[in-house]
Amino acid sequence: MKDFPEGTVWLVGAGPGDPELLTRKAERLIGLASVVFHDALVGPGVLELAAPGARLVHVGKRSGRHSKDQRTIDQLIVQAALAGERVVRLKGGDPAIFGRAAEELSACRAASVPVRICPGVTAASAGAASLGASLTLRGLARKLTFVTAHARADEPLDFDWAALADPHATLVVYMGKAAAADVSRQLIAAGLRGSTPVALVESASLPKERLFHTRLDLLPIVARAALGQGPALLLIGAALAEPAQPLHRIVASNRAAYESAGS
Ligand code: SAH
Repeated sequence: MKDFPEGTVWLVGAGPGDPELLTRKAERLIGLASVVFHDALVGPGVLELAAPGARLVHVGKRSGRHSKDQRTIDQLIVQAALAGERVVRLKGGDPAIFGRAAEELSACRAASVPVRICPGVTAASAGAASLGASLTLRGLARKLTFVTAHARADEPLDFDWAALADPHATLVVYMGKAAAADVSRQLIAAGLRGSTPVALVESASLPKERLFHTRLDLLPIVARAALGQGPALLLIGAALAEPAQPLHRIVASNRAAYESAGS
């Protein structure tokens, strides 16, 4: 309890969904919190770890759905801490990766509220684990790039495509479902081969997890045809080459999806 007095805030990484992928520290902090502000991507198994009397406040963000804006979330966190609560701000994956942690850290600091970060397993790591793949490969993939393809509907993605089209790198695109066609077209135009391996991972570590292998030129079709409503990542590069016997895994995860849908 020494590291979590009343009136303080922890930004806690909830990992990709499976409660077993929480850190022990995250589990302890969630259990100590008097209030937990959480995202839509935080799985129910994780929220069950909160103390019986704790308040769970959904401040969820999922693209396309109504959610509280970031300023409001910052204020809620700060006000709760100033009211003497033990505040956990629970975020999917790692709070420091595409998690708007910077805004929450500065809001707390501006109000002199002590705030710390507990890291979590980011979606790219969970996706690679589910695929049974290494994100880096000696000699072949020596660079690992995480980008978010989140853009306004009416704006094109403004990446430095030439820099991203590196055949010796692994590129992981967060929030990339809607942008899959654009990503494929631009990377190929910038010089990456159409045959570059691509993996798609939806709902990594969750019962509805789905995994697909394809290639860069087919990515638009596969993303449109195969992906559902869950959070999804695009993983691009030589490290994502389809293993010799991939089918059993895809079949197994599809079966799990059917079973969970039917239960
Ligand atoms: N802080 C988070 C990322 C937040 S951005 C992290 O470190 O993982 C939200 C995006 O993360 C989603 O659009 C999706 O691209 C990815 N994501 C989060 N959870 C995921 C999961 N279980 N499976 C696949 N992708 C996931």
